[in-house]
Parts: sequence; C-alpha cells; structure tokens
Amino acid sequence: MADDYYVILGIEEDATQDDVKRAYRKLAKIMHPDLNKNDPTGAAETFKKVKEAYEVLSNPLKREKYDLELMRRGSGLFTSNPPQQSQGYAYTGPPLAPQRGSDVKLVMKILFQESFTGVKKGIDVKMPVRCTNCGGSGSAPGTPVSSCPTCRGSGALLQPVQTPQGYINQRIVCTTCNGRGILMQNFCQRCSGIGLVNGSENVVISLPPGVEDGAIIKLNGKGGYGLGNGPRGDLLITVNVEEVPNMKRVDNDLYIEESISLPKAVFGGKQRVFTLEGRRTLRIPPMTRSRTEFLIESEGFPDPVTGEHGDLYVVVYIDPPEDLSEGAKKALKKFAMEMGEDLNDLGL
Ligand SMILES: [Zn+2]
Ligand SMILES: [Zn+2]
Repeated sequence: MADDYYVILGIEEDATQDDVKRAYRKLAKIMHPDLNKNDPTGAAETFKKVKEAYEVLSNPLKREKYDLELMRRGSGLFTSNPPQQSQGYAYTGPPLAPQRGSDVKLVMKILFQESFTGVKKGIDVKMPVRCTNCGGSGSAPGTPVSSCPTCRGSGALLQPVQTPQGYINQRIVCTTCNGRGILMQNFCQRCSGIGLVNGSENVVISLPPGVEDGAIIKLNGKGGYGLGNGPRGDLLITVNVEEVPNMKRVDNDLYIEESISLPKAVFGGKQRVFTLEGRRTLRIPPMTRSRTEFLIESEGFPDPVTGEHGDLYVVVYIDPPEDLSEGAKKALKKFAMEMGEDLNDLGL
C-alpha cells in the first residue's frame, strides 16, 4: 500500500474504467523495456508498478477494497494499526471512532418546464454506504461478536479530567474496543472491517417550483454514511436547467418568442401561444411591429421561496413565410407591385 495506484497511473480517483484502461495503455507503450534500451531494468521496474496498479484499479472488486484502504489512510485512522486476522477471541478490529460521513455533490439536470413546475425524482447517488455483508459492524458474518464490557457497547468512555474549575468528564474513545462497542473475532473481508463500502443509495430529491439554474440545494444527512456510526454527511445538489430555443428566464420573468405572420401583423388578429401554463390567446392589434412585447401579468416563474409569480412577456417576431406556393408567390409579387417596389431590385 506504499504507492498510490492513482498517482502511478496519473488519473483521478473518480476515473472511469475506460480512463483506467486508456492510462494503462499509454504508459505501457512508453515504458516497454524494448523502447528503453538505456535503462531497461529501471523501465521494467516502473512497468511492474504500473501493471500492479492497473490490475487493482481495472478490477471493480479489488478497486473498491483499495479505495477503502485509501479512505482509511486519508482519515489517518489506521496508519499504525493495519487490519489483521487476530489469534485470540477479542479482536478489536481497526479503530473506528465515530466520524461524520463525507459530503456528496451531484449535478441534477432538469427540463425548462420542470424548473417552472418543480420536480420530484428518485436518483441513485454514489456514496459510501453501510456494508451489507456485515450490516455495518465490520465483523465477518457468522463469527462471534460480543458487546464490549468496558464501554458497555457505546464505544466511548467518560474520563474525569482535572480543569481549573474542578473535575469534568470527557468522552474518549474506548480503548478496549477501539470505539466500536463490540469485540469481534474476524473482520469482514468485504469492507476490511470498517463497515462501509462504495455504493449508492436512492435519494428522493424534491425541487421547488421556480428553482433556478445553478441553485444549490442541500439535503442534510443524505450524504455519505459515517465511520463507526458517525452521522451522515450532506448531499449538495447543483441544479442544471436545460435551455429551450424560444424561452428564457430573466429573474422571475418569462420571455417567450413568438413568430407571427405578415398578414396578422398588418391586419391584427388572434394568436395562440404555448406558455408554460398552457395555451393563451393573444390579441395582436393591427400594424404590430416586430419585437413588440405583450405583457401577461403573473404568469412568469414562481419565486422558489415566496411563491410569488413574475410576469410573462410574449415578444412577437415577423418572419418571412416559408414554403410559398406558386399562388402565394404570385400574390406577393402583385403586392410588391402595388407597393411600388422595383421588381428589378427584387430580381423578379
Ligand atoms: Zn463489512
Ligand atoms: Zn468498548
């Protein structure tokens, strides 16, 4: 465990299996002894390490175990006391003082419509979870376990310490059971005795109506499980709202771009508009210009906190008509002539 396999392969700890393979292939090419005639032994040595790292990280089971080992190293818990099989009965396992679980971050993509209505979804979130093999106790299934007599199963002891104000009781980790509350014979092979493995949990995430792009929602106690029955970390969700081509949000106001025909712009008339709340009929007055805004009050986004709605603006555009029939072309040509346009200028 002296070398960090992730460092050897030059990848991040959340690298995918593809990343692992790619990194290995790249290094294997560079370090092949045939290509390193100047220092074949050195290259072979290094390549051996690369291969060892690859063999562990490319195997999901081995990698999971290795990750846990890293986690322990990172937490500084086990450095002086690596887990080992005990001879006698009262194996205490690796020390396991309660420690808060890690905060888990997640980006949640939602539809534009969902940011308006709010959304509730169950999502599988990757995080350290309780080992199901041992139920989180860290003890090998089927092997005897007894409650720690020293701390009576709590994992902690109260120790009187003298202060200028007199004696006070301080909580310390029980040294008989190393904070576990139990005495075990063998540690669970799957989690190496720490009671946690890398896994995932389905978390129901509820986003309020009007939730904004980039908002961060914090769910207390829904993050990674803690070591030794420590409290869970938090889950931090960053909201990512999908864009739509003809709608945009400005504060809590909603802007919808709506294309109207030239005759409608000239003569006025009714225009059916799809808003986020359904269909609305807009009255277009005669001689409406492009980029005119029509205000529909309180039909914008609800404020995620107060629930108060912003306004809706329908911005109309006059686009040239598409797929003109021969008849329509003739009529337009006639129209152009009526308007005194020079047909040569129009290339007609
Ligand atoms: Zn286990
Ligand atoms: Zn104890």
